[in-house]
Amino acid sequence: MSNSLSITVDVEDWYHIPSVCGSTFSLYRDVDEFFEKWNDRYDYLSEPTKRVLDMLDEYNVTATFFVVADAGEHYPGLIESIAERGHEIACHGSHHACNIDSKTKEPLENTEDFETVTLKAKKILEKISGEKVTGYRAPNALVGGWMLDSLEKIGFKYDSSVCVNSLYNKTDSPLKGVLTYPYYPMVGGLEPGGYRDFVEFPWAYYDVGIKIPTSGGPMLRFLGAHVILKGLKQSLKRGHTVFYFHPIDISYEKFPEVGRGRPFYWAIKGKIVEDRIRYILKNLKNSDVEFKKLSDVEII
Ligand SMILES: [Zn+2]
Repeated sequence: MSNSLSITVDVEDWYHIPSVCGSTFSLYRDVDEFFEKWNDRYDYLSEPTKRVLDMLDEYNVTATFFVVADAGEHYPGLIESIAERGHEIACHGSHHACNIDSKTKEPLENTEDFETVTLKAKKILEKISGEKVTGYRAPNALVGGWMLDSLEKIGFKYDSSVCVNSLYNKTDSPLKGVLTYPYYPMVGGLEPGGYRDFVEFPWAYYDVGIKIPTSGGPMLRFLGAHVILKGLKQSLKRGHTVFYFHPIDISYEKFPEVGRGRPFYWAIKGKIVEDRIRYILKNLKNSDVEFKKLSDVEII
């Protein structure tokens, strides 16, 4: 049984989240409208990203960075700085806009538009990083089976967005038979059962009778490091496991107070979250876990 883990980092700024941009309930329709109207400082991302890179060097970890492609335009040099340190650049959408409705799970755009926009994002990231981009993570982890078919069609090799748990389902599928290790998804859906050159890397959960999502992200802020680490270790027993966080999770700064629900959403971040990530990295480094970029994971 595989005992390997991928550290993944979602590179997006405070305004990329759905209450501010790119959802049916956001304050600004999309990032373009945000930049048209926002006249204040916007970059709260570069500084914590530098600290993430230093932290990963400290623990000698090579990671996969899912980058929102518009970072190439608004943060010159940022993507280069990640690629230069030997990390994998993968795609986290063009502007981090939702592709399916968070409630109905219906597509918010047609397949052709999704493919055009996503292929453009892929090419932007490849041009800047100088590397082939083969991985995708759906903005806000809202993913439909049709998206994987499109991703395969336009040259991606894997997705890492599916999170099975007892609290929520952000996909358009029941996820029956999906556990926490990589699998080949069926065509047209997210269930296992495909014979194809495309892999899904689902997220970790901690099964204690109910399945608690423990791959990281907001759960790392809400649940703390101990539960997350237990869930990662349980998932590692099943197979290859995914952990993720955002550079803005460890930002020391107060973000602009716009958008709905923000004070609660960002109640826990900064040093406390950085310490939690360090606790997890240190613990896993001291265990018998092999760290791999997602593009280096071999599926048996
Ligand atoms: Zn994201």
